[in-house]
Parts: sequence; structure tokens; C-alpha cells
Amino acid sequence: MSDMTCKLLIIGAGPGGYVCGIRAGQLGIDTIIVDEQKPGGTCLNVGCIPSKALIHAAEEFHKLSHFNGSSPLGITAASPQIDLSATVDWKNGIVTRLNAGVAGLLKKSGVRLIAGKATFQDGKTVKVTTGDTSVQIRAEQVVIATGSAPVELPFLPFGDTVISSSEALSLRSVPERLCVVGGGYIGLEIGTAFAKLGAKVTVVEAAERILPQYDSALTRPVLKSLQALGIEVMLSTKAKGLGDKGLKVETAEGSEREIAADKVLVTVGRRPRSDSANIASLGLATDGPFLRIDDRCRTSMQGVFAIGDVTGEPMLAHRAMAQGEMVAEIIAGHKRSWDKRCIPAVCFTDPEIVTCGLSPDEAKAQGGAVTTGQFPFAANGRAMTMEAEDGFVRVVARKEDGLILGLQAVGRGVSELSAAFSIAIEMGARIDDIGAVIHAHPTQSEGLQEACLAALGHALHI
Ligand code: FAD
Ligand code: NAD
Repeated sequence: MSDMTCKLLIIGAGPGGYVCGIRAGQLGIDTIIVDEQKPGGTCLNVGCIPSKALIHAAEEFHKLSHFNGSSPLGITAASPQIDLSATVDWKNGIVTRLNAGVAGLLKKSGVRLIAGKATFQDGKTVKVTTGDTSVQIRAEQVVIATGSAPVELPFLPFGDTVISSSEALSLRSVPERLCVVGGGYIGLEIGTAFAKLGAKVTVVEAAERILPQYDSALTRPVLKSLQALGIEVMLSTKAKGLGDKGLKVETAEGSEREIAADKVLVTVGRRPRSDSANIASLGLATDGPFLRIDDRCRTSMQGVFAIGDVTGEPMLAHRAMAQGEMVAEIIAGHKRSWDKRCIPAVCFTDPEIVTCGLSPDEAKAQGGAVTTGQFPFAANGRAMTMEAEDGFVRVVARKEDGLILGLQAVGRGVSELSAAFSIAIEMGARIDDIGAVIHAHPTQSEGLQEACLAALGHALHI
């Protein structure tokens, strides 16, 4: 076994780890990053990017399928076909390009990327095994960025019929009947895509609402659209196991039912990979299954940091990246701590949901008086020209001075409003600031200005 040394060792080259590596390299820190998979982590290989590629392909196919003579736009097209295998090859091509892109960025920053499985020997020593060879790396500082993995239900083990999101994103043909267990982010994003590709989709959700982390005003347009796509949404329903024809469930009324399915996609959350790399041997403090960190991403062991999904919610790529960048700067001696006012979240359903900062209920729970303003896309010219009138933009502000505490929207393509939302909150904007900014016409972002004007009591277009 050979030996290597470095100042900083990062375990995991997902969005958290690789951004930490790039920034560390830029700051002149001698850095090694280790991953057993291709660089990019869950996000690039089996998460954000592959799912958005599938969602895009499904949307294009669905659009064409509906130009069947009934479109008010006057477009008619012959019945389209999809070769999902070709779609998956296209998606894999994007992933491969991005894998090479991440490796190139690390190289450009002078970071050494090692392919292999890391195992802690002690808090500063890690053994990395690749096939039959292994190397021992000693570092002054270590960052754990091992990410997360799909939760497996004990009564629905992953196999041929029961699949996780990773397999769903690489299916070579559209299943005739797909049953999705879990109506959260992943289940609804992928379930919607397969319904658009022609599968008969059923969503089984244990809670009484889909996307239970969002308020019902935001999820209502999504539920309406799922139903319009022919997706059966079974709420307050528990999965029980595989039957002869598909998935056995206990319905809201307490009766047993079997839902016919060729594939059962289980998306009931993700678990941190805090059991990976012999992390347990370090005896780090935990918060439930997650590694406990402070406002500088320090764990309970000196010189050992943790970032990304392994440290808890929200398990989002951009949170992991922001933590990675911050930790690299801390290791370089900069005075940094986690000072973000908000982490935007986007659910890429149809329509999309974007949230940033506090919801009305969360703001009220903080005690102070709150004002809200809402603008419907039904009154937005651009939304009408895109046949995207469902949804709205909502602002939540402190009553006293109009400081924006939260922004939410649901609607077609609203993911692109997330930057404006985050900037407004990070910069400490007030509703009168945004109300006074000229927003280009005709755009959906006029909804943001109008929501702020509505909160001030003088919206112009409703
Ligand atoms: P990961 O990306 O999980 O990377 C961890 C890396 O560590 C992996 O590459 C793994 O191979 C490596 N590793 C683990 N243990 C070892 C070991 N012992 N030795 C060597 N290497 C090891 N987030 C968004 O913000 N937007 C989205 O649209 C979005 N869509 C998603 C869609 C799906 C289907 C899924 C599953 C997730 C999605 N996410 C999305 C979540 C996002 O992918 C994660 O939040 C993000 O990848 C977390 O980054 P990370 O760096 O913490 O960990
Ligand atoms: P999730 O927490 O979003 O949803 C899981 C759903 O499964 C919940 O609604 C829950 O009530 C339900 N559930 C749990 N146990 C169940 C059971 N036994 N039977 C039926 N339903 C059950 O989890 P996810 O969809 O797996 O996504 C995991 C994480 O990945 C998310 O929290 C998010 O951080 C990240 N993600 C983000 C994006 C995005 O940013 N667009 C997309 C996908 C994933």
C-alpha cells in the first residue's frame, strides 16, 4: 500500500465535495478528492441532471401528443413516437459531458482526483481502495461529503420490479403501468414525466396531501395537473408489499387493494450516507441519522468537516455547493460562517413550485405581524400567451416595514424566478423596493412586482 499526504482530503465528489475542491484549489490548498463513482455525485449521475433531462423529453413528447387536432393554437401533428432507449442515451451523453467537465475543473484548480472507496482509519487517515490496489492518505483537514442514498422499504426491497429513482432514470422502455410510492419531490417529478410518456401512473402517498412540506395553496395546481394527466393520486394510503399483480396497499378507508403495476418506484425519502467510509468509527456527534455540524460545517471532531446531504435537510445540491465553498474558505483561513437568509427550493413538477424564505404560516409562527400579497398568472399576459394561466406569485413581508420574509410561486416555468426571489431576500429588499423596480413586459416575473404591489394594497393589473 502506497502513502500520500495532503492538506485537505475530501471524501465524495458530489456538488458539495467537488465545489469544495475547486474553491480549495483556487485558494492554493493542496487538496485530494476521492469518489468511488464518476465525479458529480448523486446530482449529476442519478439526480438533478438526469431527472431534468427526462422531464424535458417527456414534456416535448407530451406537447406533440396533444397537437392531435384539438389544440386551440391551430397546430396539428401526426402521432409522435418515443424511443426511450435513445432518450436515455441522450441523457447519458449529457451526464458524461458533465462528468468530464467536473474532472476538468478539479484538474484546472490543481486538485488530485482519486477513484476509489474511502475508509477512515482514524480522523486524519483514510484508506482508498480501487480494485486490488489501495493507498493510504494522511491529511491535516478532512471534509466528509458522502451524500445520501434512496430509502429502501423493508417490505419492498429494490430488485427487478421495485426500483429507486436511479433505475427509473435509466429505464429503456416506458412501463405500461407505473406505481409510485411517495408523493414527494422525486415521486412527482418522475411520475409526471412517465405519465407524459404514456405510462398509466398511480401515486401512493401516506400523508393526506402530496408534497406535504408545502402549503396546500401551492400544491393544489399540481394536484389538478396530475389528475388532468390521468394520474391516480391515492392519499392517506400505505404501501404494504408486492402482490401477484403489483402493489398491495391499505387505503385511507382501511381496506386492502392491489394496484396493477409493471414497475413500483419507491421514493419515500433519502438517507444520509453517514454509514459509509467507516465514518461510525470516528464517533462523531449526530442529529438523528445526520452528522451534526455547527455554523462552519465543523463536526464534533477537530479538523473534520461535513457538508451536503450527509448533514441534513434541505437535501439540495445548491446547499451542498454553498457549504463546500464556505468550508474551503474557512480552511484557507478566511473568516466565514453560514449567514444565508434563505435556500431556494424548486419542485420541477408541472406546474413548478418555487419557494424561498418563510411561508405565511412560518412567518406568523415567528410572532410578528405579517402582510402577504398574491398575483395570479390568470392576470398575466405572458402566462396567457404560453397557455400557463394556473398558479400565482406570493410575497410574505413584515407588516412593520415591508421587509420581504418569503416568496413563493407555482406555475409553468417559475423555477427561473428562484434567482429573483433569493436575491430579494438576501439583499434585504422590501415590498416597496420590488414594487418600484421596472420588470420587463411581457414576462411572468411581472407577477413578482405585482405580488409586492398587492401587498402594498395597489396591484395594477387585478
Ligand atoms: P452526493 O451528490 O450524494 O455525492 C456524494 C458522493 O460521495 C457520491 O458521488 C458517492 O459516490 C461518494 N461517496 C460516498 N461514500 C464514499 C466512499 N466511502 N468512498 C468514496 N466515495 C464515496 N437537488 C436539487 O437541488 N435540485 C434538484 O433538482 C434535485 N433533483 C434530484 C433528483 C433526484 C432523482 C435525486 C435523487 C436527487 C435530487 N436532488 C436535487 C438532490 C441532490 O442530488 C443532492 O442534494 C446532492 O447531490 C447532494 O450533494 P452531496 O455532495 O451532499 O452528495
Ligand atoms: P420527499 O421527502 O420529498 O418525499 C417522500 C414522500 O414519501 C413524502 O411525501 C412522504 O409522506 C411519503 N412517504 C414516506 N413513507 C411512505 C410510505 N411508506 N408509503 C407512502 N408514502 C410514503 O423525498 P423524495 O421525493 O424521496 O426526495 C428526497 C430528497 O431529494 C428531497 O427531500 C429533496 O431534498 C431532494 N430532491 C430535490 C429535488 C428538487 O430540488 N427539485 C428533486 C428531487 C429530490
